[in-house]
Amino acid sequence: MQPIKVSLDQLRKYNQPGPRYTSYPPATHFTEAFQVSGFRFQASPLSLYFHLPFCKTQCLYCGCTNVVTGDQSKSAEYIGYLEKEIALRKPQIAQDSEVVQVQLGGGTPTFFQPSELEQLGELIRQNFPLAGTVEAGVEIDPRSLTPEKVQALCKAGFNRASLGVQDTNLEVQKTISRIQSLALISDSNKLLRESGFESVNFDLIYGLPSQTESTFLQTLEDSLIFAPDRFAIYSYAHIPWIKSFQKSFEDKLPDPELKMRLLQLTIEKLTEAGYVYIGMDHFAKPDDGMARALNNGTLQRNFQGYSTHKGVDLHGFGMSAISHAGGNYFQNEKELDSYYAALDGSSLPIIRGYEMTDDDRIRYQAIMHIMCNLYIDYASLSAELGVDFTDYFKADLASLDDLEADGLLQREEAGLRVTPLGRLFIRIIAMRFDAYLQAENRKGRYSQTV
Ligand code: SF4
Repeated sequence: MQPIKVSLDQLRKYNQPGPRYTSYPPATHFTEAFQVSGFRFQASPLSLYFHLPFCKTQCLYCGCTNVVTGDQSKSAEYIGYLEKEIALRKPQIAQDSEVVQVQLGGGTPTFFQPSELEQLGELIRQNFPLAGTVEAGVEIDPRSLTPEKVQALCKAGFNRASLGVQDTNLEVQKTISRIQSLALISDSNKLLRESGFESVNFDLIYGLPSQTESTFLQTLEDSLIFAPDRFAIYSYAHIPWIKSFQKSFEDKLPDPELKMRLLQLTIEKLTEAGYVYIGMDHFAKPDDGMARALNNGTLQRNFQGYSTHKGVDLHGFGMSAISHAGGNYFQNEKELDSYYAALDGSSLPIIRGYEMTDDDRIRYQAIMHIMCNLYIDYASLSAELGVDFTDYFKADLASLDDLEADGLLQREEAGLRVTPLGRLFIRIIAMRFDAYLQAENRKGRYSQTV
């Protein structure tokens, strides 16, 4: 693949606030009036997500919904509640629905003890039929990984790992309060590889305090030595009004110009090294399942970012987890106490949700095609959606002149094609098909698109 070149002027021009389209409409439209109690979901391939919220210490850049505790007994108690939640929700899910994907996120899944990780695998196996091949991923914190935990994860059926590397520079690590040596990262990677994990992803973050172009280049080079199958390179989200501990390093944050140069550097370095730029934060080796899914049109976006499975119902379990099933989105209680209290009262711990309208479903598919296939075939999407695509989206298609002139896309006779440059600004293209944005003041609601 050709390295992608991007100018700072373009990054500047298109760095606007916008949704990340892990859902459509975005989660800001979910309401507490939503009820899921009487639902029965039809048979569908299943993707299961388990939110494991505990962390031993607080990393200062973190925006996750987590619970910091030194009390190791918390994890066993939490598994008990996951079991209660599964028992309540299982009757809603058609019995012949097979699981094709499982993901453990957090928090820190490796906070859990080996026996608890095995117990979690058992809980999944006992309650849901598994497909012949299951893509089972887990987020790994190198600081709490042990050989016993890796063995337990393998036993529980996990075969994909996302290693939380973030940045290898000691100064940056001190500022964000997450110190982990390159030797520790190397040991974790080796443990996972030798235990038979099929895919190891490295998670990095650009825009962290104390980062410079040379420190981040070094982080990329340090990471490339391990030849991960995928990279997820996230933009640091500064939200001190929600996470006040982020204020501690405000004076050390890179300015917007430097942050953009870090992104530019990342794209050039990784595409030069042979990785395929999947879109937004993701890069993959050309023979990786994610790059193959991009080529064969089965890539999908959900709350974990890009996914290789299309047309699945996502069921999220645990505190704050989000589900997307049967055309509905719903989210669990975001506080541990209220999550436990609902389950103690034998109620579903759901706090808010949204039922998609017909227009939402049509626009959701159009946005997914743009973000995942990078192409819209008017005839086939018209047939799939039961509308004349060019007529339905007449105004949206007419609004693309400036993006076409800047080389982000091409409008062809039979369809709309996103260019390699357009992948960088994929949210900007998707936003033109979002019916809600016209009515909203975007600023302050969404993160920057770069
Ligand atoms: S371990 Fe992960 S979830 Fe926990 S504080 Fe650090 S970044 Fe946040």
